[in-house]
Amino acid sequence: MWDVEPSQYRPNMGRSTDMLNAHPSLQRLRVQMTDATHHELQSTLSRIDGKGYKAYHDIKGRWALPDFTLVVDYVQGDPYAAPSRVRVQVPGAVTALPPEACRPGPRAVGTGCLLARRFQQEARSRGRSRGSGRSGELRIEAPGQEVIPNTAVQVGSDGSLEARFRVGLPARGRRVLGGQAQHLLLEDVPEIVQASLVAAAYDAGDILRHAEVNEDAEALREALEEHGLVGFIADGASLPRRSGVDDRPLEGPDVVPFQSPDELRVTLQAPNAGSVTGMGVPRGVTLIVGGGYHGKSTVLRALEQGVYNHRPGDGREQVVAEAHAVKIRAEDGRSVSSVDISTFIGTLPGGVDTRRFSTPNASGSTSQAAAIMEAIEAGAGTLLIDEDTSATNFMIRDRRMQALVPREREPITPFIDRVRELHDTLGISSVLVLGGSGDYLDVADTVVAMTDYRPADVTNRAREVARAHPTGREPEVPGPLTELPPRRPRRDSLDPSRGRRSVSLKVRGQDAIQFGTDEIDLGAVEQLVSWAQTRAVSEALLLARNRFMADGPTLPRLLDAVMGALEKEGLDLLGHGHDGDLTLFRRHELAAALNRLRTLEVDG
Ligand code: ADP
Ligand code: MG
Repeated sequence: MWDVEPSQYRPNMGRSTDMLNAHPSLQRLRVQMTDATHHELQSTLSRIDGKGYKAYHDIKGRWALPDFTLVVDYVQGDPYAAPSRVRVQVPGAVTALPPEACRPGPRAVGTGCLLARRFQQEARSRGRSRGSGRSGELRIEAPGQEVIPNTAVQVGSDGSLEARFRVGLPARGRRVLGGQAQHLLLEDVPEIVQASLVAAAYDAGDILRHAEVNEDAEALREALEEHGLVGFIADGASLPRRSGVDDRPLEGPDVVPFQSPDELRVTLQAPNAGSVTGMGVPRGVTLIVGGGYHGKSTVLRALEQGVYNHRPGDGREQVVAEAHAVKIRAEDGRSVSSVDISTFIGTLPGGVDTRRFSTPNASGSTSQAAAIMEAIEAGAGTLLIDEDTSATNFMIRDRRMQALVPREREPITPFIDRVRELHDTLGISSVLVLGGSGDYLDVADTVVAMTDYRPADVTNRAREVARAHPTGREPEVPGPLTELPPRRPRRDSLDPSRGRRSVSLKVRGQDAIQFGTDEIDLGAVEQLVSWAQTRAVSEALLLARNRFMADGPTLPRLLDAVMGALEKEGLDLLGHGHDGDLTLFRRHELAAALNRLRTLEVDG
C-alpha cells in the first residue's frame, strides 16, 4: 500500500570538497492502492510453482508487504544467470531512523552505508542454496571501509529508505520452486529488513554516530584549504591495514597509533567531534622519509584513501586529503593517447615527438610522466608519489649519472627538477615517499621522518644536511612548463559494441572494465576502491559517449559534463536506472579509465 517515488539520488558536487556528499532527495511516500498485496505475491508464487523459469516474470512489479514495498525490477533469464534485481522501500514510520541521522548530505550517506553493511551481514547469514545454480542467493553491494555515496541503501530525509539487492529466484533445473521463492521473498527478506533497516536493530547511538562521523570527515576535508593544508592525519588514527588485500584495520598491541610531531600539529574543527588535533600536511612539497619498513608507505596510502571518508572504527575516519589529491605511479605497459609529456620527456630515440605522445606500451618513466600530465589535465591539486611504485629514472638523475650520460642523450627531465615549479606556477602540491634519494631535500618545504611508525618533523635538520652535503647535481630544465594542448577524445574511438551487441560493458573485478572489445586495466589506479565504483565508472564512460561527446569537448569539459550530470540527476543516470551496485567516483578515476582505453584517439 505504500508507494515510494523512484528515489532520485543527488550527490551534491557543487564544490570540490562536496563531491562525495550525497543529497538523496526526499523520497515522498504516498498511499497508492494499486500495488499488489502480500497475499497476491504468495498466490502468484504458488500458481507458478513447477512451471518453466520464465513464469517468474509474473512477479515483476510492486508488492505491498506488511512493512515495506518489494519491487522486482528485473527477472533473471535462468537460475544460473546473474540474479534478479529487487528493491525494498521502507517508510520512515517503519525504519524509525533518528531524524538527525537522515539529514541530506554526509549524514544520510553515513547512515546508508551502515545499514547496507548490516544488510549484507544479515543476507550472508541467511543465504543458502534453494535449488539449482544461484537459487537462493541474496546479495547487496555494500561498501567496505569507505563511506561514499552509493545506490545500495539510500536514506531519505524523512527516514524512509530504499535498499537495492539481488536475489537468485529458486528453481530446480529450470522449474520454478514457488515454495522456496516464498521463503526467500516473504520470510528471509522481511527478516533481513527487520534486522538491518530499522532503528531497533541497532544499539542506541550507533546510527547517529555513523552519520556524525561522516559529517565530521567532510568538515575536516573542507577545513584543509583555509589552513593551507592538503592532508590531515588525526592524533590517535590507526593507519596500517590487515593485509594488502584486506582493508580492515590492523589490530593488536603492535599497532602504533599516529601521533603528530608538535611542529606540524594543527587543530581543526568538526561539527560533532569539536576540536580535532593531528598532523597537517602543508601545501607545497612534502617528503616522507625514513628507513625501510618504518611506515612511510602506510602514511601515504592513508592520504591517498583520505579523498574518501571512512566508517567509524576504521582508524582513518579522521584522516583526510584534499578532494583532488591524485596518486601517481609508474605503470609500464599501459597505453597512452596523445599526451604532451614534453615537460618531463624530451625527444625520444627515433625522433618521437613527445608533445603528442602515444604508445600502446609505455615504459616506467613515460607512463609516470603521462600519469602526471593527465592528472594535471583533469584538475589534480596534489600529487601523491611513492618511490616503491615509481620509475627511478623518472624521479632522479644524480650527479654521477649526469656526468656519465650527457644531457643530450637523456630525454628525461626528472621529477626533482619540476616538482617546485609545479607548485610555484600551477599550485600543485606533492607528497613524496622517499627513502633512497636525499637529493630531494633541496626542493622540499616540509620533511617528515618516520621512525618505528612515529613521524618527526625533520625539516630544519634536512636543510642543514642539504647545506652540509651539496649534491653537486645540475638542475636539468630545458624550459619552463608549457601549457597543455587541449585533447578532444574522439567519440568513435569509444566503441562499446562487440560482435552483434551494440553495447557490451562488463566489469571484471575492481580492476578491469571490458568496454566493447577493449579491456581497460585499472590495476594501477589505486584510488578506485570498490567493484561498485569501477562499475559506475564503466557506465559513466558509456554515458559520456552517448550524451556528451557529440560536439567534441576537450577532456576536462567532458569530465565536467559527466560529473555535472551526476550531480544534477544522480547516480541513477547510470546503468538501468535503479541499480544497487553503483558507487560515486571522482573525475580523476573517470579520466583514468578513459585514458587507459586502448582504442582512445584524441584530436587536438
Ligand atoms: P615503508 O614504506 O617505510 O617501507 P610500510 O608503510 O610499508 O613501510 O610499513 C611496513 C609495515 O609496517 C607494514 O606491514 C605495515 O602494515 C606496518 N605498519 C605501518 N604502520 C604501522 C603502525 N603505525 N603500527 C604498526 N604497524 C605498522
Ligand atoms: Mg614503502
